[in-house]
Amino acid sequence: MRRAKSLKPLVGATRCARIEYEHRAFFRNAAKLFPKPTVPRIVLIAIVDKAGRGGTRKVEEAFEAVERRYAEEGLRLRSPVSAEIVSMPIMGASKSLRDRHTLFVSVRAVQSGTLDGLVAHEMGHMLRTEAHHASHDPDVYRKMGREVRIPRAAEGAFSGAFNHIQDIYADDLAFLVFASDGGDRAYRFFAGWIDGNAEMRGQDRWQNVGLAVTNGFALGNLVRHRLIRTDDPLWDRARAFDREAGFTAVDSFAEFFANLPNDPSAETFLLQVRTLAGLMTKAAET
Ligand SMILES: [Zn+2]
Repeated sequence: MRRAKSLKPLVGATRCARIEYEHRAFFRNAAKLFPKPTVPRIVLIAIVDKAGRGGTRKVEEAFEAVERRYAEEGLRLRSPVSAEIVSMPIMGASKSLRDRHTLFVSVRAVQSGTLDGLVAHEMGHMLRTEAHHASHDPDVYRKMGREVRIPRAAEGAFSGAFNHIQDIYADDLAFLVFASDGGDRAYRFFAGWIDGNAEMRGQDRWQNVGLAVTNGFALGNLVRHRLIRTDDPLWDRARAFDREAGFTAVDSFAEFFANLPNDPSAETFLLQVRTLAGLMTKAAET
């Protein structure tokens, strides 16, 4: 399966993309270039405003607030982070190398009121990477590339779907720090995705399946954190998308994301990935 290697938006209103690197030689050399830091007290080491639209102070404040909230939960990054404010069509992205992370924040995210949510989410990816969680482990990606077979036409949809699996595990951490106030912020955020996807439905079967997976991710994530009821009207809007596209899949996708095991072994994780690929293929072949 292809990994997201660029900042191009994936199928659906993806808020984030992970940029994965697996160059072993680079890691070997990087160990020499970047000796292990002595647990830095300030994790954010630089903010570069590449878009020239300002906002470095805002990013710094959001980062430090999120970092403090994570610390209260006993979660701390070991490696330093540099941040870049860039013009891009998605809200944000992050990249993790052996001894450092880069956080990419879009101009839109800086201007929106969701900056702390984005930072919490991206930091969730970084924490999962440092913890070698199966969903963020390059060894597991390599196995997946060998073992999980998907049709060529499905690569874009599947790449987006895999990002959503990683997003679930990033959000399991992020929700601890930004959605614990009992408000409906996460609900409104994900409802916006489902409504936006309704307008993106097209003729391409796999693209529509990819959008339905995004809807299932949005619902499943809310179910996972007990932020949506079974009779919420959002379900009907997501099922209407399926109906118009000619398949019935969103409930199975939502159930999949809601029930992903917290800390799976590599084998269990690969089994989950195969399960999602199977659900998607079934929807595409309906
Ligand atoms: Zn993400």
